[in-house]
Formats: sequence, structure tokens, C-alpha cells
Amino acid sequence: MNTIEHWINGARTPAGSARTAPVYDPATGQQQVEVLLAEPADVDTAVAAAGKAFESWGNSSLTQRTRIMFAFRELLVRHEDELARIISAEHGKVIDDARGEIVRGREVVEYACGIADALKGGFSDQVSRDVDVHSFRQPLGVVAGITPFNFPIMVPLWMHPIAIATGNTFVLKPSERDPSASNFVAELYAEAGLPEGVFNVVHGDKVAVDAILDHPDIAAVSFVGSTPIAKYVHERATASGKRVQALGGAKNHAVVLPDADLEFAANHLTAAAFGSAGQRCMAISVGVAVGEAGDQLVGILERKAKEVKVGPGSDAGNDMGPVVTQAARERVINAVASGAEQGATVVVDGRGLTVEGHEGGFFVGPSLLDHVTTEMDAYREEIFGPVLAIVRVDTVDEAIALINANPYGNGTAIFTGSGEAARRFQREVKVGMIGVNVPIPVPMSYYSFGGWKDSLIGDSPIHGPEGVRFYTRAKVVTSRWPHTGRFTAGFNFPTSS
Ligand code: NAD
Repeated sequence: MNTIEHWINGARTPAGSARTAPVYDPATGQQQVEVLLAEPADVDTAVAAAGKAFESWGNSSLTQRTRIMFAFRELLVRHEDELARIISAEHGKVIDDARGEIVRGREVVEYACGIADALKGGFSDQVSRDVDVHSFRQPLGVVAGITPFNFPIMVPLWMHPIAIATGNTFVLKPSERDPSASNFVAELYAEAGLPEGVFNVVHGDKVAVDAILDHPDIAAVSFVGSTPIAKYVHERATASGKRVQALGGAKNHAVVLPDADLEFAANHLTAAAFGSAGQRCMAISVGVAVGEAGDQLVGILERKAKEVKVGPGSDAGNDMGPVVTQAARERVINAVASGAEQGATVVVDGRGLTVEGHEGGFFVGPSLLDHVTTEMDAYREEIFGPVLAIVRVDTVDEAIALINANPYGNGTAIFTGSGEAARRFQREVKVGMIGVNVPIPVPMSYYSFGGWKDSLIGDSPIHGPEGVRFYTRAKVVTSRWPHTGRFTAGFNFPTSS
């Protein structure tokens, strides 16, 4: 049995860890490797290596940092096939979907390649006689990232390229369910010329997370995962004086108006609900059918959900792979059952699906629930699986009110031919990322990603300009030249003249 080790100070190392966790192949249900689970002392070792590396990396030139980012970006392109296979093997998603997350993550590296521009400060000449003011930003020091299983490459890439390009050193604690991609990335950074200790990977569970949250030498923590853990991370890490960004879970609604092209909308809803087996923070899990759109929309969705090809992610031609664990599979099955018990109509039932030759895999087929109401558990809970719940409303105002009453506010979309309805929707809805005839409106890397309400704890979205702000702090310098001469010191508070 292969053991996945930590990556500390430029090398694979078991450090002092003795505990391990199994890593499964979700398509077979079999354990394929094990991963080390760090103890607090292992986190100390990684933070010490990152702290030592910061002494020189924090003073490295913008040119050096940028050149390494360009080289890293090229390696991500060259190794895309291999990375996609690694992701698919442990997560279960289909290879082309894995490529998609690599490309979207790589775009953050491309943004980091232009960090020199993003880090430009301001300068004001002659704010008072012989006095100028300029501002600049400096890195924080050692920063950490704690990431979820569902995007083992993309979500860490939302963090470390910007942290590193702005001069910080990084300790990543990836999900213990699909840890291999992070070690592969560490090797690519080393090949790109990143000095030892600038990027470290510590594998683990709550023990490692708690050690990061309490560590006195970590200046900031970026977290992406479920809302209860995001709240916990935010509370504990801010209590120990850290800067924290904590992105949580989601329940994303797509509103379909009667004037939409229903075939187009249903195509996009199907892909956005069942792609990656619904395990995306921007997956559409609720379709809100307005007025007379309802019956026709559900009819098309039924046909399309039944056409989704489910099987191992490694087989080209499959649309959807398994979910990540047996526990996730059971959660999905229970959610469909509770929907049925509480009065929803099960239009498509994915519970009984088996994939020939992969009977032990964590497969569950697409499910479509109609006439779901806001009191039902299938509506209230984040199922994080291939279940699309249809709620019916009479007006666009009702749709907006429904979304605004939901505790989550990550993404949402509207399908319509009406510019007026779309404009009102985007202005009134309390959600961070909005699509108009676009079902998964993940912002480009030069914007920032983040939801509202329980989908983002605290106030810092991730990557793009907000990422640069998060990983740096500002200085403003007021200087006077010449330093001798006619000015006399006064006891009154200084003002300009
Ligand atoms: P999770 O919250 O279970 O785990 C996330 C990270 O926290 C992992 O590294 C895990 O090891 C750690 N962790 C888990 N339990 C912990 C505990 N009790 N104490 C300390 N650390 C703990 O999330 P997941 O199941 O890996 O990922 C799915 C969730 O992530 C979904 O809720 C999804 O919506 C969310 N997500 C959100 C975004 C976003 O941008 N808002 C993006 C991707 C995923």
C-alpha cells in the first residue's frame, strides 16, 4: 500500500506522523492508497520551514517571483493529462471535468504572472510643500490554506499562486480524501524553480487544521469547505489574531422564466446539476420554475436526466462519475427518500443505479424532484450530490424572495429573454455570483470569487484583486526633502500647506 507523505521544505517526508487515512477509488469502492495524517509537531515543522523560507522569499524581486509563476504555468499545461488522471482517480469526476478545473485554476496562475501590475502602489507629489506620499503593499509572512475535496487542484490554486507571487510562503492542508494532486503540484513548483520551503503540503484531518488555526507563526488562513467548518475556522483563527477568509457551502437556485428558451435552459440546468455528480459549490441544486414554464421544463429535464451517462470518470464518454465516498452516496439516497416522504414528486430516481463491472463503486444516478417546498429537508440541506429540486412559483418577485430567504448566497442564475427581468434580478438578489443565461457563473481569475450570507464567513472573497489585498498589507509613507531648512517643528497636529 503506497503512503502519501507530506511535502515540507522541498521534499517528501513522513515527518513524525503515524496516523493514516484510506484514500478510495470511488469508481470501485476500493482503497487505493493511504495518506498520512499530521500531528501538531508536523505542522510546526512545515511552518518553521515556511518561516525560514520567508526570510529570503519575502525579499525576492518581482521579476524572480513572476518568472517562477510563468514557468509553473507552463508545467501545469504540460502535465495537464497526468494531473487530470490523478484528480479523477481519487475524486471520481470524469477526465474532461478534471481538465476544466485545471484550466480554471491555471487562470489564477496567469493572473499571478501579472502580479507586478496588481502590486503597484500610489504616489502623490507635493501633498504639502516639499512633501510627497506613496503607498506600497508587503506580504504577511507564512500563510495557510485548508481546502475541500471537490476541487483538489482548482481551489488550492485560488490561494497559493497569489500568496506566493505577493511574497508569502505557504502551507497547504488539502482534503484527506483526494490528497495526491497537491503533492504533484509541489513537484511542479520545485521544477519551476521555487525555493525550498516556499510551498509546503501537510496532509491531515481536524488535528492538523486545529494546529494551523492556533499556530502563532501563521499570519493568515484561507479556507474553503462546508459552512459549519468555515464558521469554526473563522472563529478559531481570528481568535488567535489571524486574517481569515472562509468560504462555505451553497444551495444555488436557477430561475427559469416562461419567456426563456426552455430547451436551452434545461440543457444547462442538467449539466450544472449533475456535472461532477453535483459536487460543486456552484452546482445548481434548485430549479425555480416560474408560472407556466413549470410543466414543460420538468418534462425536458426528465428526458435529459435520464440521458446522463453515469460510469467511471476514466472512461471518455461518461458525463458523470461516482460521488466521493460511500457516506456521500448514502446522504444522497437519504435526501431523495426524505423528499419523497415529505411530499415531493420523484420524477427521476437515481437511487437504484448500479454500474456494470463497478458494483462496489460509490455511484448514484441523477435524481429529479418536483413540487419541492421550502420546508422540505431536500430543499433546506446542502445535499452535495446529483439531485435537482424543482420549486414552482408564480412570479419573478416570488423567485427573488425565495432566494433571498435562503441562508446561502453563493451563486444563482436566471434564464430569460427579458433584459428587464434579468436586470431587476441581478440588482435585487442577495447572492454573490450571478449568471444571466449562464448556469455556473464562476468569476474569471481577475475578478474575485465569493458568495454572500452563509456562503462566505467574514468579508474577504478569494483570488483576483481581493486575493492580492488579503495576502498583503499596506504601508503609506510621507516624506519630506530636503530634510533641513525653513520648516520649524510645531506642537499642533500637522496639517498640509
Ligand atoms: P469539509 O468542510 O468537510 O472539509 C473542508 C476542509 O476542512 C478539509 O480540508 C477537511 O479536512 C477540513 N475539516 C473537515 N472537518 C473538519 C473539522 N471538524 N475540523 C477542522 N477541519 C475540518 O468540506 P468537503 O466535504 O471537503 O467539501 C465540500 C463542501 O465545500 C461543500 O459544502 C461545498 O459547498 C463547499 N465548497 C465551497 C466552495 C466555495 O467556494 N464556497 C468551493 C468548494 C467547496
